[in-house]
Amino acid sequence: MSRVYNFSAGPSMLPLPVLEKAQKELLNYQGSGMSVMELSHRSSFFTEIITEAEKLLRELMSIPDNYKVLFLQGGASQQFAMLPMNLLIKNKKADFVHTGSWSKKAVAEAKKFGDIRTIASSEDKNFTYIPNILPNMIDPEADYLHITMNNTIEGTVFTEIPDTTNVPIVTDMSSNILSEEIDVSKFGVIYAGAQKNIAPAGLTVVIIREDLIGNAPTHTPTMLNYETHSNSGSLYNTPPTFAIYMAKLVFEWIRDLGGLKVMEKMNQEKASLLYQCIDESKLFTSPVAKKDRSLMNVPFVSVNGDKELEAKFIKAAQAEGLETLKGHRSVGGMRASIYNAMPKQGVEKLVAFINKFEKDHA
Ligand SMILES: *Cc1c(COP(=O)(O)O)cnc(C)c1O
Repeated sequence: MSRVYNFSAGPSMLPLPVLEKAQKELLNYQGSGMSVMELSHRSSFFTEIITEAEKLLRELMSIPDNYKVLFLQGGASQQFAMLPMNLLIKNKKADFVHTGSWSKKAVAEAKKFGDIRTIASSEDKNFTYIPNILPNMIDPEADYLHITMNNTIEGTVFTEIPDTTNVPIVTDMSSNILSEEIDVSKFGVIYAGAQKNIAPAGLTVVIIREDLIGNAPTHTPTMLNYETHSNSGSLYNTPPTFAIYMAKLVFEWIRDLGGLKVMEKMNQEKASLLYQCIDESKLFTSPVAKKDRSLMNVPFVSVNGDKELEAKFIKAAQAEGLETLKGHRSVGGMRASIYNAMPKQGVEKLVAFINKFEKDHA
């Protein structure tokens, strides 16, 4: 069977050249006589992998020297707890922007640790837009402001980062990290589960400003304290070695394509192809406000809410090698996740399929 175009929101496609390289090295990594999966995390082979992975990520994202890069486990979901445990220190207060299912979980978890305020929400319109955040909405005494930069389920993205003066911004970038150039220095913490745009599942990347490390209360569990991982170069215990190796290969792939500027341009091209097709369609429509549309996750629904038509579309698409287009149950309809690894040809094939389906159902 040949490979399909997989539009899954995560775990999602990995770049084919990366999979091929991993396959080539699978049984005998660089003459070690072992697979990366079998290498000690203390071996010189693995030390080189993790060191190189961090170096590449720093180069790709232009991460300033006063930030640490941590390779952790537990997913973005564990960060929902780890962040308040480590950051709710001075005033035990934080402000959150509520933009969908993931921010809801982040708020619920943070509430276990302190005084959490939702300063803006787009729940009134089923999270189809990003609310405006003005500086005077933010509590100057908040220990941090949390935003979910790209809302994977709802298909929205913050195109402007709020101005918070001294309050650090913490952002969940699970579904848009490495998709475009961003200014890391605007953030206190950036975190992302790897399984969307970085690597297979099992790895969580945290980019954290140094002054936010080392303030957790002494009763904080060792594994949930950023200081533990920062002091040990993410090698306090056994890290997800194979996922880190795959991340390194993905970082090399992005570098060789020309870095984030080129990646961003490719992502814009892919997204505009698809949005244009949906906007011109008489059968389907995008629920998301134009100015807030994600480049990575593109939900679309039948114009008349015709569930049968949607089911038929998803099934017929699958038969053409266009996989996992079913939308999340909270939005319904379809969702095409078009992360970095989705080739332009995959989007072109989807667009051609939508057009053909539309003709057949006119
Ligand atoms: C997928 C996703 C998560 C959950 O990630 P896990 O690694 O499964 O915990 C959280 N936030 C966003 C924005 C996501 O896309």
